[in-house]
Amino acid sequence: MTRVHNFSAGPAVLPESVLLEVQKELVDWRGAGLSVMEMSHRSKEYQSIIDDAMDTLKRIIGCGDDFDVLFLGGGASLQFLMLPLNFCPADKVANYIDTGAWSTKALKEAAISGKQMHIAASSKDKEFTYIPKSYQLSENPAYLHITTNNTIRGTEYMKIPEVPADVPLVADMSSNFLSRPYDFSKFSLIYAGAQKNVGPAGVTIVLIRKDYQEKLLGNIPTMLNYKTHLDKGSMFNTPPTFPIYVVGKVLHWIEDFGGLKEMEKHNIEKASYLYDVFDNTSFYKGTVVPEDRSLMNIPFRLPTEELEAKFIAEAKANRMNNLKGHRSVGGCRASLYNSLPIESAKALNSFMKEFEKKNS
Ligand SMILES: *Cc1c(COP(=O)(O)O)cnc(C)c1O
Repeated sequence: MTRVHNFSAGPAVLPESVLLEVQKELVDWRGAGLSVMEMSHRSKEYQSIIDDAMDTLKRIIGCGDDFDVLFLGGGASLQFLMLPLNFCPADKVANYIDTGAWSTKALKEAAISGKQMHIAASSKDKEFTYIPKSYQLSENPAYLHITTNNTIRGTEYMKIPEVPADVPLVADMSSNFLSRPYDFSKFSLIYAGAQKNVGPAGVTIVLIRKDYQEKLLGNIPTMLNYKTHLDKGSMFNTPPTFPIYVVGKVLHWIEDFGGLKEMEKHNIEKASYLYDVFDNTSFYKGTVVPEDRSLMNIPFRLPTEELEAKFIAEAKANRMNNLKGHRSVGGCRASLYNSLPIESAKALNSFMKEFEKKNS
């Protein structure tokens, strides 16, 4: 079996051990005589799978029962809309820090849904190459929304912004969820598409603090209403059963790895294989300010676009896949999510040094 070094930004690499477990259980889940794909979501077997995934997640983030966990369809993109619909009343203002691409999409949905919206800070002035270090809230803020890691631009919050006690902090954590030990107790709501760091595409994880649920608004279409899904334990309608099952396995893999502290160490080490290259040559240039460099998504440029195309093609020929930058920004990008083995980061480091020698 020859697996590639997969630097995809998402759907992304999964732990090989998880794939092998899924393979082993694929046709007959633990003697039940059927695949998880074929199970009723109302069966006690499936209930045990989803309960275990929720419990494992709560253990990993270390906030006990302060949060309820939802597994929803529609992607993180649907959360851009569900959040303001459910948590921004007409007399309040949805506040956003705009750090590019995904956060821009998030704040647009708040505006489209007819809510009052305010950009509390933005790094647009420098093409989103940094994380704003201060912000200015509107009057009557409903919440402050941040995007903890910017998948396309490659910036990441090292420190979570402080908010006044009466202002809920909410976050799109899609591309760095469970990659480092953030203080989860500071957040009122967190959402993350699974396909970056914790599973296959098709399920989005939403964590909502129990005390924040008291602020849920009413009169919202059924499927867009968090209360619908909270009341039914993510089983109001058929949930994405198979992706949830795989997420559960990835969560156990994270726990067995040693949890978030160990995961962070592993991610710092992997990212250093790239950032060390940037810091020791001018052939490869990182595109963001050093203090806000993401451990997950690392964009970079070569001296010319021709060299970038050659780099991406030769990397692919060497089994290093998905190094093309997002179509909106060009250049190159390596995504080094949790499940990417250290060997892949080392292989890319060697390849980059070789390529530079041959082409400079
Ligand atoms: C990928 C991504 C999204 C969009 O996720 P979908 O599940 O495709 O809707 C949103 N936010 C961030 C930060 C992302 O990286």
